Amino acid sequence: MIFSDVTLAPADPILGLTDAFKADTRAHKVNLGVGIYKDEAGQTPVLKSVKKAEAILLETEMTKNYLGIEGVQAYNLVVQGLLFGENSHIVSEKRAATAQAPGGTGALRVAAEFLVRNTQSSTIWVSNPTWANHQNIFETAGLTVKEYRYYKAETHDMDFDAMLADLSQAQAGDVVLLHGCCHNPTGIDLSLTQWAQVAQICLDKQLLPLFDFAYQGFGAGIDEDAQGLRTVAAVVPELLIANSFSKNFGLYNERIGAVTVVAEDEKSATNSFSQIKKTIRANYSNPPAHGGLIVSTILANAELRQEWETELTEMRLRIAEMRTLFVNSLKAEGVEQDFSFISRQNGMFSFSGLDKQQVARLRDEFAIYIVGSGRISVAGLTKNNMPAVCKAIAQVL
Ligand code: PMP
Repeated sequence: MIFSDVTLAPADPILGLTDAFKADTRAHKVNLGVGIYKDEAGQTPVLKSVKKAEAILLETEMTKNYLGIEGVQAYNLVVQGLLFGENSHIVSEKRAATAQAPGGTGALRVAAEFLVRNTQSSTIWVSNPTWANHQNIFETAGLTVKEYRYYKAETHDMDFDAMLADLSQAQAGDVVLLHGCCHNPTGIDLSLTQWAQVAQICLDKQLLPLFDFAYQGFGAGIDEDAQGLRTVAAVVPELLIANSFSKNFGLYNERIGAVTVVAEDEKSATNSFSQIKKTIRANYSNPPAHGGLIVSTILANAELRQEWETELTEMRLRIAEMRTLFVNSLKAEGVEQDFSFISRQNGMFSFSGLDKQQVARLRDEFAIYIVGSGRISVAGLTKNNMPAVCKAIAQVL
């Protein structure tokens, strides 16, 4: 038999945890594994701005005809506005070309396959640690994955010297995966000075930055979070960007993101984009429309855009509030260890420093689910579940 030789794949480290959580019958269970924003009531409702855009689409959408390979044109333009800012030279000089993609994951996959098939770049450097799916995506597309150091466990902080030292070992043409903001899983981002240094090393050593930008607006603000990307794009002639609207528009299951290529001139951008389209055609032909139409409808309408920005700010501020409350509640539970680093981290996640054994005890004894690396989704904490979570952590430390 052909299939009898197929072995059982291990459960995905993050999505497998969600399955285990669903199967858990304990009523007080808390899921702080997967990166999904929860409101104060512990829900992940559709944003109001999204509901309104969907109402408009229900009235105005006339056809379900195929989109072009690159997706909704208006969407691709608004994506460039979010990435590079209004009045960007990169956009006016037509050095950027964007294709709608099924989520940030789809965008990363397309970017990787484009590199493998069309360039000499065959090695990608990712941070240690990084999002659990990066290695999987890049290796499946045929890239060799190497790691650069990023995080110092003892200080719960960035190890920038080590990062630079490792990147200086990279060869011309190697790709460097950079988290645009809200680094997953550590929540620790580069400062603007550090971004400028990374830009310079990429320029000097002819490394190609690939930005994974999945959390724009969850760190400090829409434009603020793009400063790292814009700093690098102002210095290096070529880069790739995979962005996602799963989190900042709450469009997780619509699978909406984009892949953007920035080239040194319009001709090179056009050629590269034609190959990106060829990659898309071979994978899924053209993207699903709904997510792209929602995002472009919201961003083209001043009132809806304002409403979305307000909703995004609410999400960001609630997570920041939970960070402070988390630190204070741990202290109140008698935890002596200093957890103040949690309030210095950005985005949805906190790299707690809890080890595998402590994570297992949290799950087995207290029905609290976090990723084995100790990554906690702070966006899943609420005033209601906070006391139980902090009590449990105090017990396992
Ligand atoms: N990159 C990072 C760093 C992420 O955290 C995620 C989502 N967890 C993605 C990419 C993929 O996002 P999407 O769900 O849009 O595929």
